Amino acid sequence: MPLFDSHCHLEDAAFDADRGAVIARARAAGVRGMMTVGTDVESSRRAAAIAAAEPGVFAAVGIHPHDARLASEAALKELQDLALHPRVRAWGEIGLDFHYLHSPQDLQEKWLERQLAAAAEGGLPVIFHERASRGRFLSIVRAAPPPAGAVVHCFSGTADELEGYLELGFLIGITGRITFPGRGAALRELVRRIPPDRLLVETDAPWLTPDPERKGQPRNEPARVAGVLLRLAAARDEDPGELARRVTENACRLFGIDGLADPEPFG
Ligand SMILES: [Zn+2]
Ligand SMILES: [Zn+2]
Repeated sequence: MPLFDSHCHLEDAAFDADRGAVIARARAAGVRGMMTVGTDVESSRRAAAIAAAEPGVFAAVGIHPHDARLASEAALKELQDLALHPRVRAWGEIGLDFHYLHSPQDLQEKWLERQLAAAAEGGLPVIFHERASRGRFLSIVRAAPPPAGAVVHCFSGTADELEGYLELGFLIGITGRITFPGRGAALRELVRRIPPDRLLVETDAPWLTPDPERKGQPRNEPARVAGVLLRLAAARDEDPGELARRVTENACRLFGIDGLADPEPFG
């Protein structure tokens, strides 16, 4: 079963002690591609370095809405330089998060707009993070230059939000939330409405460990994307092998990776 973890944070300090073993376990579990996603300049730099060194690992660079208050013109310039590296295949994660409001709303919106412009200018697809933005996210992305493809990662929104994302041509990233007994129930219903060419699976590791491993295993890792895929296939009444092939193709298409024909990213 070929798998692609379309969103993880291998650069996170949670993996400093055993990053190589984590990547090896992912490969052994059939995870042929991993997109490791920066959240600020420092983590974006680390993500790009890991992608440059590890076959099958690609990087995204960007400033997370939580960190918008730390953004600056110099930071944006450095991300634009990092984005020129051939293993950097997306801009992200960027967006709005009004649930925690770690950064003020006006700064989150400003840096979402600025990074959308930078991604469009660089021709990179975008990885979006959206939480509780009450329609602001959709109105900002609708007014921005359209990106070269996009995914709304860790989707946990409403049916209307899903409809809005699909109309814009975005892909939808499904995490281990789909395995959560109570909180995952609405998501297990909504995923049935997503066209097969718009689906991605992801771990968001080290966060969001799927059930039942969640108990006693606080740190998630890319190998567990298989559990997300199996639960997604069950929710959609689809063959897991066929769904795995499709979502892997979707990830390769979004991130401009030459798919299974290219041995390099899957080496
Ligand atoms: Zn996120
Ligand atoms: Zn993330």
